Amino acid sequence: LKASLKGMIALGFKGINVTIPHKEKIAQFLDDVSEEAAIVGAVNTVVFEANGTHGYNTDVHGISETLKDYKDDINGTDVSVIGGGGAARAVIYSLIRNFKVNKINIINRTEQKAESMKDYFAAKMLFDSIKTYELFPPDLVDVLSSSKLIINTTSIGMSPDVDDTATEIAESFNENQIVFDVIYNPLKTKFLEIAESRGAKTINGFQMFLEQGAKSFELWTGAAMDLEKVSELLLSKLKT
Ligand code: NAP
Repeated sequence: LKASLKGMIALGFKGINVTIPHKEKIAQFLDDVSEEAAIVGAVNTVVFEANGTHGYNTDVHGISETLKDYKDDINGTDVSVIGGGGAARAVIYSLIRNFKVNKINIINRTEQKAESMKDYFAAKMLFDSIKTYELFPPDLVDVLSSSKLIINTTSIGMSPDVDDTATEIAESFNENQIVFDVIYNPLKTKFLEIAESRGAKTINGFQMFLEQGAKSFELWTGAAMDLEKVSELLLSKLKT
């Protein structure tokens, strides 16, 4: 990884996107990382400049842009985040930094990971209103149904496993909720289908995907990406 970065600098690259499995390890080879990348613990964008190499996490921007129109609905309420990986950390960072949520429930298959995240965000962002649960849907109906916002950050339901869902229990959802699934392939996961059938406002991961890419583009070029044009192109690819 270190040698590759050196090679890219030598070749005059302006920047790169970073994905699994390098998102976490790359920070040690960069001159600096942004606050959000440091706290989320993942770099997905690197910019090469004359003064050094800089790491960013633009997923946070994608999440904040996706949810910004719902700020008034979300602030002061309880939120459930399903998952305990990189996307969950970016979501939790955004919820604490850019929104004023009352409480965050972290629900994960491996509850120990959710526990560690709870301690981590209490230490790093001084946010201690977090509760953790094991992902066992029959026990979670009350937790989910009393959350104003539910976010699935796991890969459950992602293509090709489109019949999978983090919960099949329709009573987890209601018409007062906002339900966000970070998956964008398929555009409507089974999770969102169930939430929609119960009258919840649903949001897929497409805007997050688009906005995180647009932010990377802006960091590399200093120019704004044509969101409409790229959105059209991406949607035509996703629908084929
Ligand atoms: P990750 O770090 O590998 O974390 C995956 C999480 O999903 C873990 O918490 C894992 O639970 C849970 N999980 C996976 N399979 C499961 C299963 N069968 N049952 C229960 N839990 C399961 O992955 P990530 O980077 O956070 O990415 C997660 C999803 O977000 C992916 O679908 C990715 O495509 C999507 N994403 C979307 C965007 C966007 O722009 N829209 C950006 C980033 C990521 P354990 O902790 O128990 O293993």
